[in-house]
Amino acid sequence: MKVVMVDLTREYNELKNDIDKAVSSVINKCNFILGEDVVKFEEEFAKLNGSKYAVSVASGTDALRIALMASGIGAGDEVITTPFTFIATTETISQVGAKVVFADIEEETYNIDPKSIEKKITPKTKAILPVHLYGHPANMKEIMEIAKKHNLIVIEDCAQAFTAKYKMGTDWKFVGSIGKCGTFSFFPAKNLGAYGDGGLITTDDEKVANMIKTLRNHGSSQRYIYETEGFNSRLDTIQAAILRVKLQKILKFTEMRNEVAKKYEKALNGLCKTPVVKEGCYHSFNYYTIRFDSKETRDRVSKHLTENQVANQIYYPIALHLQKAYKHLGYKEGDLPVTERIQNEVLSLPMFPQLSDEEILYVAEKIKEAVKVKTI
Ligand SMILES: *Cc1c(COP(=O)(O)O)cnc(C)c1O
Repeated sequence: MKVVMVDLTREYNELKNDIDKAVSSVINKCNFILGEDVVKFEEEFAKLNGSKYAVSVASGTDALRIALMASGIGAGDEVITTPFTFIATTETISQVGAKVVFADIEEETYNIDPKSIEKKITPKTKAILPVHLYGHPANMKEIMEIAKKHNLIVIEDCAQAFTAKYKMGTDWKFVGSIGKCGTFSFFPAKNLGAYGDGGLITTDDEKVANMIKTLRNHGSSQRYIYETEGFNSRLDTIQAAILRVKLQKILKFTEMRNEVAKKYEKALNGLCKTPVVKEGCYHSFNYYTIRFDSKETRDRVSKHLTENQVANQIYYPIALHLQKAYKHLGYKEGDLPVTERIQNEVLSLPMFPQLSDEEILYVAEKIKEAVKVKTI
């Protein structure tokens, strides 16, 4: 049996009528840039996420870059973040002129460790950029406390975590509604995927929201009047129309991902470490990531799955602080020990809402075969 990481055709077949209608409606109106569907999508997204404002942009990477700029982060500032993420999280920090500072991660959730953040704070620290990795919320209670104590801005990278929730005090909050800004990606394989690239920023701060709108459109809120230099970074109306259809189903799809996760957990019992969901957290399961006790076992399982046509990926095989792109920052092996261990032990399995019971059991069976092999 062939099992893919994400089969988008199953979702499309389910929603085909509505999506085709939405796309042809935009084409009939020829309102391709910042059309009505963009405005409506932003309103609907903000409402669902419990944020005052939602401003769409061209990608999750642009969402990060523009959120950083609109929050006033730039040259001379330091931003503390995790090295166990996709490079978009950090390249955008450098691109706005700030310095990337890496903290270590938590053993259980693989998210940035608040204790490590505190050790990295200097007089130049301006912001903390947690990533809700794989869809598990970062420890926002402690991160917000540190931010308050040191007067820092918090920008949440929610690219993998739309619809994940975190309990702040007695309130369940969607990620992206806790810090100053939340940034989202609509890359096709994310929880809410467009049929191309797209992104969005949430905030409760009206000034920041207006600045984001200005920056995404060449620094202009009135045609040919420029308050600043900006970007061409708008969400296409066609993408917004597709995303509006999918937004109506997103909570159900996340529930289905959680069901898949439960079935995996049962089938994988005793074979590996399955994802932890901490109390006060609701996981969005963009990825389903398991862990082994050594690199050797992880690599053997990965190879066996690939040989049996079961897709699998390592997110992420080499942490960012050890990459050539960040050599100039001067980190050495051993500096962030938890990250360096976990990068060798994790493996992500096929995960999407429509993954079948048969497929789940087949993946588990192949993992079992590889784990049980005795090495002599
Ligand atoms: C996907 C991703 C991004 C970037 O989003 P794009 O829409 O691909 O630009 C940023 N951060 C993380 C953690 C991601 O997974």
